[in-house]
Amino acid sequence: MSNIEQLPTTKLQHQDANAHLHPFADYRLKQQQISQIIVKGDGVYVWDSEGHCMIDAMAGLWCTNVGYGRKSIADAVHKQMLQLSFYNTFFHTTHLPAIELATKLVEISPAQFNHVFFVGSGSEGNDTIVRLVRHYWNQKEQPGRQIIISRQNAYHGSTMAGASLGGWPSMHKQGGLPIPGIVHIGQPSYLEGGQGKSVEEFGLEAASWLENKIRELGPENVAAFIGEPVQGAGGVIVPPSTYWPEIQRICDKYGILLVADEVICGFGRLGTWFGCEALGFRPDLITFAKGVTSGYVPLGGVLVADRIVDTLAETGGEFNHGFTYSGHPIGCVAALENIRILEQENILNQVKNETGPYFQQKLTALNAHPLVGNSGGIGFLGGFNLYKHKGSTVHDHIPFSTSDNAGNLARANILASGVIVRLMPGDRLLMSPPLTLTRKEIDDTFNKITQGLDKTYEQLKQNARE
Ligand code: PMP
Repeated sequence: MSNIEQLPTTKLQHQDANAHLHPFADYRLKQQQISQIIVKGDGVYVWDSEGHCMIDAMAGLWCTNVGYGRKSIADAVHKQMLQLSFYNTFFHTTHLPAIELATKLVEISPAQFNHVFFVGSGSEGNDTIVRLVRHYWNQKEQPGRQIIISRQNAYHGSTMAGASLGGWPSMHKQGGLPIPGIVHIGQPSYLEGGQGKSVEEFGLEAASWLENKIRELGPENVAAFIGEPVQGAGGVIVPPSTYWPEIQRICDKYGILLVADEVICGFGRLGTWFGCEALGFRPDLITFAKGVTSGYVPLGGVLVADRIVDTLAETGGEFNHGFTYSGHPIGCVAALENIRILEQENILNQVKNETGPYFQQKLTALNAHPLVGNSGGIGFLGGFNLYKHKGSTVHDHIPFSTSDNAGNLARANILASGVIVRLMPGDRLLMSPPLTLTRKEIDDTFNKITQGLDKTYEQLKQNARE
């Protein structure tokens, strides 16, 4: 990568620190925190400005499902830019890419979905959900149904409604959130709440928190429940198998709309088009983004079930909502080509039956490492925790203290070994690789992670001695 080696990395990093405010960053530290400059991607690999090649086990930001450098997506985008770079879809105008993508999404989504509303991102999708479900209940002449129930530690985006649906106190503090009419129940985290119970028992208990909340609020005031099939940014928390079917039963019982935020789980990450299909529930609305275009171009949307569309079509009244870039033609052609690749290369089937189970096998085997516990996931999503001492169950493991800096050390060592993973508070490391990762690349990924962990183990032992 000779052109990369010649890049003036330090100068570029200073330029970046001087002019660029990064999302989710502390601006007091911006001069000290030197950013890594990513300059190239190919397949599952990315390169930085100093020529380091890394396996991107986070797929950009949970999104590069078909991997980097797909010429056919670039060609489709190039062609469309020359044909019609933009047109809006407001009122009664449309264009060919929007028609074609809407038709394709209806074809691949669960049977209850025959319509899609396009947006530009996951956050915009969730804002659309809030307005759409409230509009729906108004049109149904049940205007009392305004409250949306979400979960603590959920992530649903950074707009006012997205961050309100999300369950992060650090986000709520900034901007006076949540907006009115959004409440949160506990998350189905066995690690957090399952001590002394079987996983299945805990799943039913976590779902019962929804029923309790509905009873407390009065079902006549509740519009919808929203959840990520598997919580992503909150730590890749796979709910017990009993959780979603019970949530479904409760929503059905009280006539409440069920919303799946599939921004991470959609488009093959769990080996199915949508995560709800893997986890056994039947939502009324689906938010999607990220994997729909594998991140090549921003695009998102909301799939809307017949139950809702039929009511709105019957009662009439304009839905006063939309974005300039709803159904952007460039995003639509990128999505169409991305979906074509997912189908043609049989990627969902591989994630479900071959590489996905192999990835999980390797991830679970990491538990044998002296630092690692609570490792696992589903499909091509996973995570593991670092522990100071391990007990006989996950609830007996003893975490490091913040001053040990174990998570930062491990992330840096794994990166130096050549794999990008994500660190979250509590020394948990997350993985969401491109869905094209082969068996050989999976072996390589876990060998490198183990190398990074071995080094971290030695350093932590050394630090403890000093
Ligand atoms: N929902 C979920 C489940 C997400 O993971 C994200 C992004 N990580 C969003 C919504 C927000 O999407 P965006 O960043 O495209 O607005």
